[in-house]
Amino acid sequence: MQPMTYRYTEELRRLERNSHDNCSLCGRAFKLAEVVHSGYAADGKPLYVGHCCETSVAETAARYDWEPRAYEVPHPDALLWRYMDFAKFVSLLKDSALFFCRADLLGDRYEGAKGLLANKSKWDQHYLKWFRGVLHNPPPGTDFGLSPEELEKRAQKFIVDLEDLGKDGLRTTFVSCWHESDGESEALWRLYCPPGSAGVAIRTTFAALNMSLGDDPNTKIGCVRYIDFRK
Ligand SMILES: [Zn+2]
Repeated sequence: MQPMTYRYTEELRRLERNSHDNCSLCGRAFKLAEVVHSGYAADGKPLYVGHCCETSVAETAARYDWEPRAYEVPHPDALLWRYMDFAKFVSLLKDSALFFCRADLLGDRYEGAKGLLANKSKWDQHYLKWFRGVLHNPPPGTDFGLSPEELEKRAQKFIVDLEDLGKDGLRTTFVSCWHESDGESEALWRLYCPPGSAGVAIRTTFAALNMSLGDDPNTKIGCVRYIDFRK
């Protein structure tokens, strides 16, 4: 197996994002936990392929176990609406820019929650077991050079790091919320433009919004699913 170079161009990252569920060469749908290869063909063209087309990869940037996308992507023609007061509309035109709110300032104390607090210690134990397994069974040829006590300390620290990473994620994620619908929503008019105020609703499509954001691989656009963590 050729070594991974970890060299990522913007085109490769875009291909990974846009072709996430399918081999970019033959179109085959990936299966859970199968190995996918991100890299380049001999002519430099970015590739994101499964074992089906692995032989076309001249340089492997990275390979990993495939997992389905965490969110559903809207249809390119899906109608998206955004309701706003008049001042925000003027600012959008003046700056030719969309406002993205930092996730921890959205006003929902559960924003970024990954589950019920009551289950936290169960999950911590789950990850601790996993970290211990990795530290005690390193890949062949790797030696961490740590005593059993130091390995245990390291595993415990990973749990703390994991939690910090989640908190950082809230401060480094920026959000613009849209409403997917074929028509206007009276409830949203009431919410964003209460009686007596002036407001605007703008309408676009998923494809147009994505293109206006530069088809940027750093931007993820997906449907919100409202779930009950208790179930
Ligand atoms: Zn293929």
